[in-house]
Amino acid sequence: MPEISKQAAAAGRRFDTVLIANRGEIAARIERACRDLGLKTVAICSEADRQAPYIRTADGFLCIGPSAAGKSYLNQDAILLAARLTGAGAIHPGYGFLSENAAFADAVETAGLVFIGPTSSSIATMGDKIAAKRAMMAAGVPCVPGPDTALPDDPDAIERIALEIGYPVIVKASGGGGGRGMRVVPEAGQLQEAIALTREEARKAFGSPSLYMEKFLEHPRHIEIQVLCDDHGNAVWLGHRDCSMQRRHQKVVEEAPAPGIAPDVIQPVGMACVEACRQVGYRGVGTFEFLYENGAFYFIEMNTRLQVEHPVTEMTSGLDIVQAQIKAAQGEVLDLAQDDVACEGHSFECRINAEDPETFLPSAGVITHLALPQGPDIRVDTHIHAGYKVSPYYDSLIAKLIVHAPTRAKAMARMCEALAGTEIEGIATNLPFLKALFEDHAFARGETDIHYLEQWLKLRRAAA
Ligand code: ADP
Repeated sequence: MPEISKQAAAAGRRFDTVLIANRGEIAARIERACRDLGLKTVAICSEADRQAPYIRTADGFLCIGPSAAGKSYLNQDAILLAARLTGAGAIHPGYGFLSENAAFADAVETAGLVFIGPTSSSIATMGDKIAAKRAMMAAGVPCVPGPDTALPDDPDAIERIALEIGYPVIVKASGGGGGRGMRVVPEAGQLQEAIALTREEARKAFGSPSLYMEKFLEHPRHIEIQVLCDDHGNAVWLGHRDCSMQRRHQKVVEEAPAPGIAPDVIQPVGMACVEACRQVGYRGVGTFEFLYENGAFYFIEMNTRLQVEHPVTEMTSGLDIVQAQIKAAQGEVLDLAQDDVACEGHSFECRINAEDPETFLPSAGVITHLALPQGPDIRVDTHIHAGYKVSPYYDSLIAKLIVHAPTRAKAMARMCEALAGTEIEGIATNLPFLKALFEDHAFARGETDIHYLEQWLKLRRAAA
């Protein structure tokens, strides 16, 4: 784009008030970033969240609907109306809810507001797993072996594709998400049934029967790369994170950097991610998720939004990712070159969930006592306080405990201290489970994969 039109485009993206279309800890986090940038904020809430602290500290607020998310945080018309009534010039979607909804991003821009995220077409491309894989392969990002095209209808042709990849394979819905719409096929005998079931599921759940197939990796780690881009073709990657500690595909503990990965192994992958961003004209923050097995990286998906675990990268890079995301949305030129990115030390994040530590059933109620740890290298991102009522309507995440230290071992020790200094009474939380996990020797040695946590839980249950 010529310089003059770039400036004009940037001028059109200026705003002084941000509506935060989310709740909980991330609403509080975004509010802080806006305040630090001198921007005004409008908080929205459902009836269940009227007492949330970030509602009181925002410059304005509107209750937009009943407690059920479908009638409030997912109600696009109500959110757009709230922006119009309050004079907000931009909408920050946070994570979850409408954050990766291309139609919403489009509606925001059509209403003359700025969507704090990538363009709706970037969201749509990355939301279609086949299109995303094709874009990544074109940019030289390493992908899981398997074609970047939809499976044909002909059963014999499907069988040939599976044989070429080699069993076990995984069949995935192109429109799938949230861990749904995929099936592992260990051997040829189970292929046709798996295809039929996944196709039907995909048709019903995602409105498209389109499927693709790739190699099923048996013991991978989950490693991801954070990127930051502007509207002017500049892009950087901010290091990597390991999020292998998962239960039911939900991340529980994250860390940066991923342990045991040599810089010369990750470097080309990071640069390929940056190149992919340039090629697709990506704007703002994003995350490339990879499976990592036997020293090789395999792209699985790109998240086109801010992530829950962004603080571990903020701790190691010293950058404020949310502020950078807002500045990119304003059309500012990225004030950071790749050589300026220097990640130091090690950071862990624990997700503190309101759930039973044994059964993992959600726990709602009033927090009767709260003590949070403090210290120069301890950060707590939360919206809770003593007397806060944890609602049964939403995700069970109530706080994120983040630590930083010069080495991984020291960061683990610091997390143990931070967990010991955290007291939450009145509801059940997963604190006892997190404390036990941080005493686990294999975790301490970095010898885990995406199945480790589930196996560890099974062994613990058997021993109890
Ligand atoms: P979603 O968008 O539903 O989260 P992903 O493609 O990100 O789907 O995959 C979710 C999870 O499924 C991954 O984190 C990983 O645990 C598992 N998975 C996906 N693809 C593969 C694969 N090719 N081999 C092994 N596990 C996989």
